[in-house]
Amino acid sequence: MSFIKANLDSIKKRITQAAEACGRSPEDIELLAVSKTFPAEDVRSCFDSGQRAFGENYVQEGVSKIESLKDLRSQIQWHFIGPLQSNKSRDVAENFDWVHSIDRLKIAQRLNDQRPSNVGRLNVCIQVNISDETTKSGVQPDDVIELCNNISNMPNLLLRGLMSIPEPTDDVAQQRNAHRQLYKLLELLKSSKELDQSKMQLDTLSMGMSSDIEAAIAEGSTMVRVGTAIFGKRTYL
Ligand SMILES: *Cc1c(COP(=O)(O)O)cnc(C)c1O
Repeated sequence: MSFIKANLDSIKKRITQAAEACGRSPEDIELLAVSKTFPAEDVRSCFDSGQRAFGENYVQEGVSKIESLKDLRSQIQWHFIGPLQSNKSRDVAENFDWVHSIDRLKIAQRLNDQRPSNVGRLNVCIQVNISDETTKSGVQPDDVIELCNNISNMPNLLLRGLMSIPEPTDDVAQQRNAHRQLYKLLELLKSSKELDQSKMQLDTLSMGMSSDIEAAIAEGSTMVRVGTAIFGKRTYL
């Protein structure tokens, strides 16, 4: 059995155990395999082991992998999860199925304008700054409702939920606290009278990575983004 297949099996086991430990169904938690820095052959090997959703952080790298794997295009969901600069938005709008890292109105507008009409709506999540004091990446919780409202009026985007990258910590209580805040914010949006729920599909909480999927699942994650635990340790050139 390949290294990737073995890792994929053990991460699925972790998801199942974490779900059962808190009375959730494992099928309600989707696994996103984060393939950044790893070659297209590794994505293919992961695909051959049954994985269908992949996440990429860098536009050029992601687009060239999508191109290399175009024979699998109709079977793979490609998620863009990294920081997005305005001048790269077109490549993302044209090539990906999801964007998790919407952090300002301008990016949402550009993606909406640039999304080709023949590929369906782009699924998007708003990235929220829950606990990361250092990078300040993501929207402040107080500003999320207004951005939701704006996105809901964009015909080529479909708002699916929220994403966060909390400050890394080994303290499980702290991990859970950060994830709980994102969960509560999504619940708030789902019951908000200020939002037209018929113009969005708020079913996604994108939270949890290799080291904190248990905490994320206990707090309601519906999509965990796992890189290292599937593909191995990354080396950046
Ligand atoms: C790299 C990355 C991940 C995966 O992190 P691991 O710790 O390797 O599992 C998840 N989400 C985002 C946004 C990332 O950039």
